[in-house]
Amino acid sequence: MHKLAIDGGSPVRTKPWMFDYHGPLEIGELEKQYVLDVLDHGRVFRFMNEVDSSYPSLLENYYKQRLGVEYALAVNGGTSALICALAALGVGPGDEVIIPAYTFVATAAAVVAVRAVPIIVECDDTLNMDPQAFEAAITPYTKAVIPVHMRGVMAQMDEIMRIAKQHDIFVVEDVAQANGGSYFGRPLGSIGDMGCFSFQFYKVITSGEGGMVVTNQEAWAARAGYQHDSAFQFWGDTMKVPSIPGENYRMSEINGALGYAQAQKLEDIVAKLRAVKKQIVHGIRNVPGIQLQRVVDPEGDVSTSVILYLRNHEAAQQFSKALEAEGVPNGHIYNGGFADRHIYCNWDYIMEQRMASPVGTPWNCSEYKGNVSYDRQMCPVTLEYLSRAITIGLNQKMTEEDCEDVVQAVTKVAEAAAKQ
Ligand SMILES: *Cc1c(COP(=O)(O)O)cnc(C)c1O
Repeated sequence: MHKLAIDGGSPVRTKPWMFDYHGPLEIGELEKQYVLDVLDHGRVFRFMNEVDSSYPSLLENYYKQRLGVEYALAVNGGTSALICALAALGVGPGDEVIIPAYTFVATAAAVVAVRAVPIIVECDDTLNMDPQAFEAAITPYTKAVIPVHMRGVMAQMDEIMRIAKQHDIFVVEDVAQANGGSYFGRPLGSIGDMGCFSFQFYKVITSGEGGMVVTNQEAWAARAGYQHDSAFQFWGDTMKVPSIPGENYRMSEINGALGYAQAQKLEDIVAKLRAVKKQIVHGIRNVPGIQLQRVVDPEGDVSTSVILYLRNHEAAQQFSKALEAEGVPNGHIYNGGFADRHIYCNWDYIMEQRMASPVGTPWNCSEYKGNVSYDRQMCPVTLEYLSRAITIGLNQKMTEEDCEDVVQAVTKVAEAAAKQ
């Protein structure tokens, strides 16, 4: 092959990329129509007459249908979705909640928000929670586990569900990054006891800010409802379940309108992303020197990125730079430089067990009988995988030619590396 661009050769690609966020790229007439509809009617609050026709309700119906679940509750974010789910399940002081070492810091923050202790466990080559690490971390205080489907790739749900059942532990799926994904035909979010979505700007589709909690249990749905609105009991017939005080996590009509328009584009965005990833994976799967992230069910992958493992950290760093020079933007996930908020070692307030008040935190409150300690090297396996991982972000608007450029560039860089 020709000389690498990083060594002065000509790059595979010079055309700029239009890599951009998935949902925001699709904002168009439908979004305008729904949002203007809200403004035209001046009805910007959800819980008024005809609650059922409010946009958050329509969005909830869409999720009930898509996931085949009984209950869906629109909220104002993914973090609040997790808080509502944990509160619904009765998770609180004295409880431990197991989470993966690689997830957005919000997963950990939600656990602490309900005053439970996050227990951080290793990920494996799927870059999701290692089921064995989950099982090994169970204590008499474990109340729930949060498998996170990171970067659109499903966690190993059969294993996690089996272990959780054996030990009587609740499962809350964090689907913030995998909206539209599935696990051997089952929509992500519908497998655990509760599922939590985010419609924040960076996610697959967006409502500006927003989230969704789903479950099949009426009592949990009611308690999530209470948690999301201190006056929830006044809006509807949820009196069968005793009320609890809530915080304000309601979704507004305008966010609901935006989210409902975007929801109608979800299947299309995911179908296009899958085709993009398939083409690239097909093109690079036999390239020497690189190993693809393990995806247990490729058919269900949301396909927001292609992740490659290199031999070691140094090789990954070189590969990343060389690929960039060939005109393919990519990220080197863990390089000790930029403090990626998705890696546990960068979650300062968790690592240092800090809350707004130092009194009665989940860690030092009298209810907590366990003993957890954190340190920034506590999950070396996860750090090792991340330190030699390269991620290439995908976009639904990538053409076959764009994908071919990625294949050519990865192949060129890998072949050059193999010769060294
Ligand atoms: C984004 C994200 C959240 C939080 O969602 P917000 O809507 O930003 O509150 C939770 N978990 C994961 C894995 C995320 O990526």
